[in-house]
Amino acid sequence: MVEKQEGASMICSGCGEKLVCRMSNYKPPYTNKLQWQNQDGTAHYKYEEGKFSCNTQSAESKQLKQALKEQDEFLKEAELSKGEQ
Ligand SMILES: [Zn+2]
Repeated sequence: MVEKQEGASMICSGCGEKLVCRMSNYKPPYTNKLQWQNQDGTAHYKYEEGKFSCNTQSAESKQLKQALKEQDEFLKEAELSKGEQ
């Protein structure tokens, strides 16, 4: 883990995204602190179900999701057309 210092950068070991260390942008009463952010300034790690996970909104991950969705639909259609024969 790279030390949190304003302007520091590292590659996330979880997803391979390039992260930048910047001050968070929380609204009061939350205290702002240094956090790892995506290139677009959003927080990279989110705390969910007792553990941290990556929060990526990169074009690449969107593309991957889209590709998986299309594959799903393709498989569904293949299932349906099987039933018709
Ligand atoms: Zn990550």
